[in-house]
Amino acid sequence: MKAHIKPKPTVFMIFGGTGDLAERKLIPALYNLFLAEYMPKEFKIVGLGRTAYQDDSFREVLLEGVNKHSRSGKAEKDKWAEFAEHISYLKADVHNEKDYEKMEKIIETCDASWSEPSVIIHYLAVTPQFFPIIAKNLAKMKLANDINRTRIVVEKPFGHDLESAKELNHLLKNIFHESQIYRIDHYLGKETVQNMLAFRFANALFEPIWNRNYIEHVQISVTEDIGVEDRGGYYNTSGALRDMVQNHILQVLCLVAMEPPVNFDAEEIRNRKVDVLRAMRKFGSEEIRHNTVRGQYSEGWVEGEKVVGYREEKDVDPDSNTETFAALKFFIDNWRWQNVPFYVRTGKRIHQKSSIISIQFKDVPHLIFPSKSTESWQQNRLIISIQPEMSIRLQVQAKRPGLDMILNPVDMVFNYDGTYSTDTPEAYETLLLDAMKGDQTLFMRGDQVETAWELLMPVLESWESKKSISFPNYSADSWGPETAEALIAKDGFHWFTLPIKKSEKEKK
Ligand code: NAD
Repeated sequence: MKAHIKPKPTVFMIFGGTGDLAERKLIPALYNLFLAEYMPKEFKIVGLGRTAYQDDSFREVLLEGVNKHSRSGKAEKDKWAEFAEHISYLKADVHNEKDYEKMEKIIETCDASWSEPSVIIHYLAVTPQFFPIIAKNLAKMKLANDINRTRIVVEKPFGHDLESAKELNHLLKNIFHESQIYRIDHYLGKETVQNMLAFRFANALFEPIWNRNYIEHVQISVTEDIGVEDRGGYYNTSGALRDMVQNHILQVLCLVAMEPPVNFDAEEIRNRKVDVLRAMRKFGSEEIRHNTVRGQYSEGWVEGEKVVGYREEKDVDPDSNTETFAALKFFIDNWRWQNVPFYVRTGKRIHQKSSIISIQFKDVPHLIFPSKSTESWQQNRLIISIQPEMSIRLQVQAKRPGLDMILNPVDMVFNYDGTYSTDTPEAYETLLLDAMKGDQTLFMRGDQVETAWELLMPVLESWESKKSISFPNYSADSWGPETAEALIAKDGFHWFTLPIKKSEKEKK
């Protein structure tokens, strides 16, 4: 997020260079950074994988990926040729030390011909089981020891529970300094999520009312319309709490709830975020019973097509106890947020794909209007929508035009599409550029990850030890289990949704 700094010459070592993430996200992101002239003049991308490729055949595969997945559409022939010159392939096995020697040679060759020593980014786009062996081998082969030059980007999931996250942190911190470790949560690279910081701390308007005196409750809802697709094997060992709440949702919650930082330094912002996690109320058995809900989808119909239930998905245990939906009520025990509920929910096969933060303000202290005027009364709400649309809406009451004093809610809308003509960068573009520049603001620090795990462990343990007798308990294309409605309805609220625009529905 540091503005106006051009990255130094950089070597990207992408472990898992032939994988899905590299093809769909990483290479298109680097290509778009190149098109926008954010890449340094001197850079090299080395894809590492077990498949046998020549540089050219590897580049062909990546080009197909860019043509399919890049936000800038199909690559222009000349531009791609210019970019592709920087890409090479190394057939390598993460266990084989000799392959790390080859990496060293590549770095030496770059350094010998470039204007200054390069930054080296080891990007771990492989399954987490390989994180430790790669880190150990990088250390052994002295590819990790220059604190100023070497960085390691670690993909999610970071640990499977508190213990494994601690173990991984311990191992990485024995090899790397914290300033070299970039734990990625791509949600933090999303434009609207970053805008939370601008919105809250660049406007005088919101801070005075951003507290328990004015805010009644907060909702964070991240729903997907798809099922587990071909990730059933992985998902069955994970579940909604691990896959979405422990990382993305808690990170977003921290941005909503954090105290104002004194400056824009990465450490300062990350300190304020971890303060929120530390202040979150712990879950005892009572809280788990009253403030958490889990769900699992059954078969159903989506847009006229029959879809299978979770337990019938490929590679999923037919008796699975894994949750595909989670809803929780959190409290933050500090002065700002005492007794303000934060409701979060996430799920698969939900009616609408959406990511929405809704901040509901308290009602006016005294209503002067007659009841006839206020039939569609709605308390003020601030809605930050990440998808389906990228927008920030302030819902206020206004007088409907006419001879009678009739009030109705209207939206003051900041819509990205209508306001800016430039395309919004993908989250991975922001994050890869930040990693090149050495800016860790949008990456998770070791203690943040552990504190988030610590908070959720009692819920995870309780859900794992007590098999749900109601699973499956919501049908595909619904809004999740009824108990999730009850979780919020018993406090007098309801989950907020943005209506799907026709064009959005047609796009699906
Ligand atoms: P993938 O299975 O498509 O790719 C795995 C890669 O690892 C391949 O390039 C393969 O060649 C390589 N590999 C496997 N064994 C190896 C070995 N012994 N030595 C060297 N290379 C080896 O996986 P993916 O979907 O690209 O995911 C990679 C990581 O990124 C995972 O941690 C995943 O959770 C994370 N992630 C992926 C996505 C996504 O959209 N695919 C999104 C977020 C996070």
